[in-house]
Amino acid sequence: MIDTHAHITMDGYDGGIEGVLGRAAGAGVTHVVAIGAGGTAEEAEGAIAAARRFVGVSAITGIHPHDAKAVDGPLWARIEAASAAPEVVAVGETGLDFHYDLSDRAVQAEVFRRHIDLARRLGKPLCIHCRNAEADTLAILVAEGAREVGGVIHCFSGSLEFAHGALDLGFYLSVPGIVTFKKAGDLPAVVQFAPADRLLIETDAPFLAPMPYRGKRNEPMYVVETLRKVAALRCVAVAEAEAVTDANATRLFGVRLAVPIFAPA
Ligand SMILES: [Zn+2]
Ligand SMILES: [Zn+2]
Repeated sequence: MIDTHAHITMDGYDGGIEGVLGRAAGAGVTHVVAIGAGGTAEEAEGAIAAARRFVGVSAITGIHPHDAKAVDGPLWARIEAASAAPEVVAVGETGLDFHYDLSDRAVQAEVFRRHIDLARRLGKPLCIHCRNAEADTLAILVAEGAREVGGVIHCFSGSLEFAHGALDLGFYLSVPGIVTFKKAGDLPAVVQFAPADRLLIETDAPFLAPMPYRGKRNEPMYVVETLRKVAALRCVAVAEAEAVTDANATRLFGVRLAVPIFAPA
């Protein structure tokens, strides 16, 4: 199974990144997509370095909407250069976060548009972060022609309407551990009605650990709990849900994702 969104280069994991990947492999995780998206180029470059060091790791690079205010010419030039690396399978996470409002909304929108333009030029899909900004996120994706770029709404926990809008644009929906919570909003219904070939799974580690680990530091090894819940909601065997979500991730992000964490050299 593939964790399509994890911040594994952040500090604070037991045993560092080797510990994280070892535990993930032990739990049956074959590949982890490392997110290199904060307010600095070092975060993007760090995710790429991890992807170069471990065959079962790929990277997504960009500037998080929280940090959109940090973008200037030199920073954006480094993000563009980093994102062109072959280890980078998507551009982001980008989008709009009107829950925390850590950057001015107009600045978030402008930086979001830049990521869409970059993804289009690189021929890579987008990784979208959206919180309390569904209508604005869809409006920008439509206006910028993101249908031709493609991508995923990561950590999907939005409304049925937002799910419909994103699916209509050809986007994938990535299911987080929230689906295992008692209060999961529309997410279980979204998992049930979405086409099987548009669902991904993720942890968004170190955040949002699924049940029964809720409140603990999240890690890619816990993505199995999300997979089990997706299988239960769709009334399919866990192995089938695993095969389908693995195939979806590999179709969206490329064949790098078919290489397992501990591949023979
Ligand atoms: Zn996010
Ligand atoms: Zn994230």
